[in-house]
Amino acid sequence: MTSRTLLTARWVIGHRDNRHVVYENGVVVIEGTSVVHVGHAFDGAVTERIDYGQAVISPGFVDLDALSDLDTTILGYDNGPAWKKGRVWPESYVARGPYEMYSQEELAFQKRHAFAHLIRNGITTALPIASLFYREWGETVAEFDAAADAARELGLRVYLGPAYRTGGQVTDAAGTIRAIYDEPRGLGGLNDAAAFAARIDGSAGGLIRAMFAPDRIETCTETLLRRTAAIADEMGAPVRQHCSQSPVELRLVREQHVCAPIEWLDRIGVLRRNWLLPHGTQATPAEFARIAASAATLVHCPLVSARHGGLLNSFPRCRDMGINIGLGTDTFPADMILNMQLGMMTARLAEGMTSIRSEDMFDAATLGGARALNRPDLGRLAPGAKADIAVIDLRRTLQTPDPVQTLMTSASGRDVRDVWIDGRRVMTDGTIPGVDETADATRAQAQFDGLIARYPDRTVGHPPVAEIFTPSYERAEP
Ligand SMILES: [Zn+2]
Repeated sequence: MTSRTLLTARWVIGHRDNRHVVYENGVVVIEGTSVVHVGHAFDGAVTERIDYGQAVISPGFVDLDALSDLDTTILGYDNGPAWKKGRVWPESYVARGPYEMYSQEELAFQKRHAFAHLIRNGITTALPIASLFYREWGETVAEFDAAADAARELGLRVYLGPAYRTGGQVTDAAGTIRAIYDEPRGLGGLNDAAAFAARIDGSAGGLIRAMFAPDRIETCTETLLRRTAAIADEMGAPVRQHCSQSPVELRLVREQHVCAPIEWLDRIGVLRRNWLLPHGTQATPAEFARIAASAATLVHCPLVSARHGGLLNSFPRCRDMGINIGLGTDTFPADMILNMQLGMMTARLAEGMTSIRSEDMFDAATLGGARALNRPDLGRLAPGAKADIAVIDLRRTLQTPDPVQTLMTSASGRDVRDVWIDGRRVMTDGTIPGVDETADATRAQAQFDGLIARYPDRTVGHPPVAEIFTPSYERAEP
């Protein structure tokens, strides 16, 4: 007989008639890589039974902007403006020649470390994102080959593609930021990304798929985006591009193209169904209308936005306009539950208490991401869907009568207990086979400390670290 695993728990979030549905004291049956049954009971024979008790068996989360490096945005939390704090290259650094601040080995480790962190947070499908500020230019094929190896080994479902760009920004000593371009270099990056995509798409039994990542709208030329759109369309791959996220970006786009970012994408003919757009926090109603008309996806990352005083304005209005909204973590911790909670709060701050309910945000973290990727087999637990599952422990949690409302009020990513991806149990009781979480965290911290030590090289005026990152309280002398 084929091996079948039956999971039971107090709560199962299944899916039928195009909507999630809650089963109290439910069951999920996995056979091979797929779910074959969801309901209150199962009559067929099974080879293994696992009872999770007080827990939610949830579809795994789809993270469209999945943190995949050692997050440098946390350094800017109390330290701004960005141009003074190493987030815009000073002219002096560019003149000397930007360099890789991590070795290829460190970058490869960071991808694997990040993937384990995503799994720990119940993320089962990830489109990795990393910052390019500390890179020589774009991401490399070598580190994405390593990322593919890590995904295969850990069992994470990923869409992979090295980020590339034709341009960047530099600042002068007064904080005037201007665009610089190197189009041949960016087009070379796209060529490399396309060759990588063709090579890895569908590998690891379909666990690894290709994506394209022209980094941020203000770092891309029209030629780069048109070519990207053509290649991605031919492959049926998603394209992710940061857009409408900062006032500096708005100014640079307006100076060069005399319009708003989304308007420009639409005008050059690239805005389309497979285009995924973080963050949209600066978008106008007219731009939202263009996103809706194109069926592109808005990638909402409420935690990283809120940390910097921003919010999507607004989730309820975008939802009502028919925009597909998916979620991204984009910062440390890659806690999708916290992210959903922040999404609820910021939507209510924008539009009031009754403007959004827990199921709207849960849909975005699951079905919205699946729709963005054109994957009706992801983001839901139903017969025929992939067995991508997050089990969230509620044994120590005060529960509301509804499991989704409990997640929005009372749980955190640390409550994720078990994770299944493609029918494989990739995490058991918080442990990922082959991963020493503490040892890896120590190694990651040493690499991050090394990067922090090199910040003065890349910061305007080259001040010492202690001036770039100001302390909370005075540091007492030893
Ligand atoms: Zn982002």
